[in-house]
Amino acid sequence: METWQKLLQESITRPGDLTRRFGVDPRPLEQVAEAYPMRVNPYYLGLIKQVGDPIWRQAVPSEEELQDSVCPADPLEEENQSPVPNLVHRYPDRVLFLVCSECAMYCRFCTRKRKVGGENMVITRETIERGLDYIRSKPEIRDVILSGGDPLLLSDERLEWILKGLRAIPSVEIIRIGTRVPVVLPQRITPALVRMLRKFHPLFLNTHFNHPDEITETSAKACGRLADAGIPLGNQSVLLRGVNDDPAVMKRLMQKLLSIRVKPYYIYQADMVQGTDHFRTSVEEGIEIIRALRGHTSGMGVPAFVIDAPGGGGKIPLLPDYLQSLGEQVVLKNYLGESYTYLNAARPVETERRSAVNDRD
Ligand SMILES: *Cc1c(COP(=O)(O)O)cnc(C)c1O
Ligand code: SF4
Repeated sequence: METWQKLLQESITRPGDLTRRFGVDPRPLEQVAEAYPMRVNPYYLGLIKQVGDPIWRQAVPSEEELQDSVCPADPLEEENQSPVPNLVHRYPDRVLFLVCSECAMYCRFCTRKRKVGGENMVITRETIERGLDYIRSKPEIRDVILSGGDPLLLSDERLEWILKGLRAIPSVEIIRIGTRVPVVLPQRITPALVRMLRKFHPLFLNTHFNHPDEITETSAKACGRLADAGIPLGNQSVLLRGVNDDPAVMKRLMQKLLSIRVKPYYIYQADMVQGTDHFRTSVEEGIEIIRALRGHTSGMGVPAFVIDAPGGGGKIPLLPDYLQSLGEQVVLKNYLGESYTYLNAARPVETERRSAVNDRD
């Protein structure tokens, strides 16, 4: 058995297992872990410095999960935008393809909390084949995002079978893997896995670091291996109360990500997902974080701040107000709050017509 499989097997799955190590009363948490599965593998557990810290909050069930009466189970209406099971087709040219129902850790704030690690997320060889058939039948799909659960919890063989299936569809230009494995179980990034993945370029990988303490020698090594195989690495963080709702923490996280060759891609406003209300921050706090990054650190380290619109509207970016007025004079505010004026140029009439046509495509 490989190291990562052993670590997974040694995961804590019951609150009672926390008592010996941390001295907490597990009783109030039993019910929570029954509603939403718990899995913390020994690697991620080892990152906890104290009860209630940012690592703990992401991994250990909390009574607050059952007290949430505000949020719906599927706010992004993924189920409504699924033409076949486990595939979400929301945008014109790309799809989200759920290929694994398991994760290396069950994050307490998960957007798919309603189904990951549970019985109502059924993924079989047959559902995957139906997904591949759907993608084949829609030549406008040029970008496929493998997600789940976590696609890197599949065996190398199963994942290779899916990637081969996708690469046999000529209209699929790029493949992306969305995975938290480099953060929560970096031992999974083995030389054999990486040798397999690099056969399927152009392949991108977006991972999900939320706190600087998640960047360790082991996770840096995993990301280095992937980057050495020519896989561009991006990061999608979620803004979480008590984890990273602090501009200084986020800045440090973005800088450290760059140092392990991961490019910050998105910071998400926390979705309105049932059982996660206690993690949500105000939207203003997210905008403040972007304001604290832009200009104050490498532009490479400034991701887009987005809200994934409830109801399935997709990701909508939010920016601090840098544009003060837009006319013949463009009045702009820089990162220090100082005003600057740019003299606008006229827009040719033909261009207007052409772009109006393009918008209708
Ligand atoms: C996030 C998402 C995508 C990808 O969006 P990008 O902005 O291209 O990264 C595609 N489909 C669904 C359903 C998504 O939620
Ligand atoms: S790894 Fe991703 S899909 Fe799995 S529980 Fe965490 S956030 Fe959810």
